[in-house]
Amino acid sequence: MSKKNTKYIFVTGGVTSSLGKGIVAASLGLLLKSRGLNVTIQKLDPYINIDPGTLNPYEHGECYVTEDGAETDLDLGHYERFLDAPTSQNNNVTTGRIYQTVIEKERKGDFLGKTVQVIPHITNEIKRRIKILANQNYDIIITEIGGTVGDIESLPYIESVRQLKWELGENNSMVIHLTLLPYLAASGELKTKPSQHSVRHLMESGVQADVLVCRSEHKIPKDVRAKLALFCNVPSDNVIECTDAETIYQVPLDLQKQKFDEVVLKTLDLPIKKNSDLKDWKNFLKKYKNPKRKVEIALVGKYVSLQDSYKSIAEAFIHAGADLETEVKVRWVYSGDLTDESVSASLEGVDGVLIAPGFGDRGIEGKIVAAKYARENKVPLLGICLGMQVITIEFARNVLGLEKANSMEFDVSTPDPVISLMADQKNVVDKGGTMRLGAWKCALKPGSKLAEIYGSRNISERHRHRYEFNSEYQDAFESQKLIPSGFNPDTRLVETLELKDHPFYIGVQYHPEYKSTVATPHPLFKAFIQAAIKD
Ligand code: GLN
Repeated sequence: MSKKNTKYIFVTGGVTSSLGKGIVAASLGLLLKSRGLNVTIQKLDPYINIDPGTLNPYEHGECYVTEDGAETDLDLGHYERFLDAPTSQNNNVTTGRIYQTVIEKERKGDFLGKTVQVIPHITNEIKRRIKILANQNYDIIITEIGGTVGDIESLPYIESVRQLKWELGENNSMVIHLTLLPYLAASGELKTKPSQHSVRHLMESGVQADVLVCRSEHKIPKDVRAKLALFCNVPSDNVIECTDAETIYQVPLDLQKQKFDEVVLKTLDLPIKKNSDLKDWKNFLKKYKNPKRKVEIALVGKYVSLQDSYKSIAEAFIHAGADLETEVKVRWVYSGDLTDESVSASLEGVDGVLIAPGFGDRGIEGKIVAAKYARENKVPLLGICLGMQVITIEFARNVLGLEKANSMEFDVSTPDPVISLMADQKNVVDKGGTMRLGAWKCALKPGSKLAEIYGSRNISERHRHRYEFNSEYQDAFESQKLIPSGFNPDTRLVETLELKDHPFYIGVQYHPEYKSTVATPHPLFKAFIQAAIKD
């Protein structure tokens, strides 16, 4: 059991989805952490997939991967980027996972002949999953409940919150309800009725919100705040406004101005002694908002209609760019449209090209064309995961002369499988959770560009893929100066490639973007942006 008296904060959402519960939770986490508290953030997702690993990014945005190899919701990326602390398998739980655990127990006979029901068995499992984090000695656990209050599928979660609030006793837990105040332009008014209804909906389930965070396009006038307080049973200081911010990284400061963290500490009966230290955060924002120069990077991918699909990459650009006082403008390039004829127009003027991760063969040939363009025109290029596989295929075809070279993912009978399936993946049938996932060590060659970039020869990065560089071709690539420069120390799998006689042409089999945070911008992204800066 936990040694500390861990406090629990539940974040629920009302009125509509996409209000930014993840950003509010991450901002609160940061504010509390900046006061010296040990905080973690967890997300409960009310869908039946075991995890988002099998979800199409169009459906649910990027799948974020933790150190311990959990395939998680993209909000966990925000939590790590704001808190600069790793999350784990325990930080993201879905309804599918909850039911899977309960059903497995039922099959083992663990319920001793009882009828297994939503209450208490499912709610007990939800509560166990929330409390499990307390074993890691956190002062505060923030649990974001996915979905919107009133959804049928959210009911067991809200009921679990009700039970926990009761069991934990006063001042040991609280509920923050994020809601929307729509603005009616015709009457020039912010309307409170939808928020009143969603708070009432929560109350019908036995849960009283302690704090309201109101998303709104306009500042909330005093009388509106008073009205919300009166109808929703909260003190008016506990009505916090959250107007649209220029950047998500501004949100913690906007909330702090309204003493959001102090309201929370008071509600949890925690001392408000230490001043919060947000010096570095403010410094980051200052640099981000006042860049000295600008670069444009083409992000070549197939999910371009939805920027959430490459969330961590876009954020890693922001962290690295701010560090270098450089605005990084991203040109989203749909690889499905790229051909030998169109590539120069599509990539014209960009200072760097990033070939994105991905699955399946749609848009692959376009990515290969982009890799060729960057190689031949000496445009800095970073290939991530599938991006590294793409530069391998392009080089094999156009430099090594292996015309039909391909990845076995796209052509199982290619005569030159420069990217192949590892032996331990060959018999895998299940799609979920079976890839090479999570943190793996990588040893970088002495004198390599990557060893210089990282300032170290031993690194660890997160993976999410099935296919690998085929080591049988290693010498052929090396002879033409596309150098395998990083290896898994145990299996000798090739993890990185770098091209000699090119300003910056690097492919990595791992995902550096998952480890970039505001406090620790990633060295590889920084080096890439640095290469893109033409001084
Ligand atoms: N589809 C590739 C593989 O499975 C690359 C995956 C990725 O880019 N994350 O190996």
